[in-house]
Amino acid sequence: MPDLLTHEEYQAIGNSLDFPTNAFINGQFQASKSGNTFETINPATGQVIAKIAACNADDVDHAVMKARESFDQGHWSKLHPSERKEALIKLSKLIKRNIQELAVMESIDSGKPIRDCATIDLPETIDCLLWHAEAVDKIYDQTAPAGEDALAVIVREPIGVVGCVLPWNFPLLMLAWKIAPALAAGNSVIVKPAEQTSMTALRIGELAIEAGIPAGVLNILPGMGPEVGEPMGRHHGIDAVSFTGSTEVGRLFLEFSAQSNLKKIILECGGKNPAVVLSDADNLDSVAEHCVAAALWNMGQNCTANSRLIVHKDIKDTLLEKVREKMADWHTGDPMDPDNQLGAIISQEQYDKILGYIQSAKDEGAELIEGGNAIEVGDGLFIEPTLFAGVTSKMTIAKEEIFGPVFAMMVV
Ligand code: NAD
Repeated sequence: MPDLLTHEEYQAIGNSLDFPTNAFINGQFQASKSGNTFETINPATGQVIAKIAACNADDVDHAVMKARESFDQGHWSKLHPSERKEALIKLSKLIKRNIQELAVMESIDSGKPIRDCATIDLPETIDCLLWHAEAVDKIYDQTAPAGEDALAVIVREPIGVVGCVLPWNFPLLMLAWKIAPALAAGNSVIVKPAEQTSMTALRIGELAIEAGIPAGVLNILPGMGPEVGEPMGRHHGIDAVSFTGSTEVGRLFLEFSAQSNLKKIILECGGKNPAVVLSDADNLDSVAEHCVAAALWNMGQNCTANSRLIVHKDIKDTLLEKVREKMADWHTGDPMDPDNQLGAIISQEQYDKILGYIQSAKDEGAELIEGGNAIEVGDGLFIEPTLFAGVTSKMTIAKEEIFGPVFAMMVV
């Protein structure tokens, strides 16, 4: 795990960053075919960081053509597995070499605390690439049972052109989870980052070329869901799409596939997770610490966020007190300050949604124990870590994914 720098050092890196803004297709940065752009905003300050190329179906067509050409040429897809492994290891080393720059870029673009970007997101991105690089020449194919007169073998082959559609909550890590296995297997890849967080993905496109991954093999298309994601989902030249995001949009990708070429669709969608604590739990300090971390980490913007704490009535008062104590350790503020564990909420839309859920809990009769308010810091989007007790299974916050720093104690 890398050492943390100081607040001032991170700010200095932020001030010196050169933000990538154009799409990355066939090994080159290029403007969108329409010339349109969209603004990307630092959610901790409200400031526009850059104007990013807004791609559309024409750019998707172009990227698919280049990805297909690269796949058919075989410079990557037919490369010896050990050579693909070497290139992916080199990419992981380049990310490591640029770790501070990428961590700061991720933090500025997403509002995530720099301490998480530097000590979790970046190291895990590197590990994920390394893991898949190492797997390339270690996962064997299979021989199927057959009679004396036949030889039946099962061979893993790259599928062709793979589309990867990303969410904003772990921009680099989600990128790695998708591109690492797809590239390791020899596919050509088109990535659509979430529109809120395009920049680190664009930078990785550039580093991939430096690592020796041939032009056209990894393409990054920034833009809006309906303009880029949907044309990818419907494209006959894309053989599989791996999507992470909301359940609602995940369903759309199944429809796009059904209405086009029946491409394979891999979905990771939303979640609503409880911690269940029974009366014989013997270390409530540890339980409280883990429940709070799982609820608040990444401002609760996790599909695995522990948004419900279901607790036996015999221990509810003791646990509630310990949870309050542990919550006090989580400080919200400037994401570039490594002393803060919590940063900004990704967007105005998400911020309004979370405050709406907090209001619904108050209106529906839940008992507010901690937090419950916005934190006013300039034009930044900050919300207090919030705990409700007396929540029943009929209340909205017990049923719907909040994706914010809010959790609900329910007694059984
Ligand atoms: P989202 O579904 O709004 O967006 C995800 C991606 O889909 C973005 O790139 C977006 O541009 C694109 N998209 C949006 N509308 C589209 C459309 N009509 N057609 C095609 N593409 C479209 O999700 P989000 O708000 O970025 O992320 C939050 C959601 O992701 C939460 O529900 C969360 O639980 C889920 N998530 C799940 C996991 C997991 O591992 N299961 C991980 C992270 C996030």
